[in-house]
Amino acid sequence: MQNRRKRISYKYRKVIQNDEKDWIIVEDTHEPLVDKKKWEFIQRTIVINSHRNEKINFFLLDGLLKCYECGRKIGVRTSSRNSKKHMICNYYRAHAKLKVCTSHGFCYDYLEEEVLYIIKKIFENIDKNKLCFNVKKRKIKENTTTLKDKKKTLENEINIANSKLEKIYVDLLNGKITEKIYDNISKNLNNEIKLKENDLTNLTKGNKIEEKERQKDISEVINEFLNKDYSDRKTILRLINRLEIHQDKQVDIYFNFKGLSDFAPALEGCKFKFNICTT
Ligand SMILES: [Zn+2]
Repeated sequence: MQNRRKRISYKYRKVIQNDEKDWIIVEDTHEPLVDKKKWEFIQRTIVINSHRNEKINFFLLDGLLKCYECGRKIGVRTSSRNSKKHMICNYYRAHAKLKVCTSHGFCYDYLEEEVLYIIKKIFENIDKNKLCFNVKKRKIKENTTTLKDKKKTLENEINIANSKLEKIYVDLLNGKITEKIYDNISKNLNNEIKLKENDLTNLTKGNKIEEKERQKDISEVINEFLNKDYSDRKTILRLINRLEIHQDKQVDIYFNFKGLSDFAPALEGCKFKFNICTT
């Protein structure tokens, strides 16, 4: 009985395989469901998001390297002799004899080192003080606006109470109200004015202390941001869209953020010639 079941299962699987083999695939006969660009983007995302760290030779710029000449992916291979990593155009590797592309066989370690250097310099070049100052200035402006509003309300209320005080005094002089009523009302109004004036003083004092605390917070956040280590893969993937490797050792770095290229350092003495690009 056992043998029989095994055979059935084996047969079943075989049928599926044969079916797939016999498929005749004719490309470009239907309207594409997803346009080509979108499809490429999806493919790229899938590749980048797949569990790369499970691969034996995991490396930081994996999935970002492209051949400038043929547009295919650049692979990285580790030499079994000295464990050095070097790049190779996948298209060239697959069809070396046909000479469809060239090797692009540069040292990967240098590339990674230099790309990290560029990123580090970019973040150093973002003027920390200027950034701090601008955030503070904005915060202070926001704060003074609400402070001004609160002050204005209190001042208005004090003015109204003072006019009421004047009015009942006139009423007293004209004999419209008794002295007793005047005393009562004026006492209440004077109390109200005192309280509001107190609030006004506290508002200015308290706000100064609050602002100092707030400025401390901002500096801490910005410091934390600028001292971050940018060499983790997650950050690299957020910053860099792709790296296009030319056969003449030029490298086009495509950042995901336009603003970053403004802070790119002067690049001299690098093994590669870098061009900072935006997508
Ligand atoms: Zn190529």
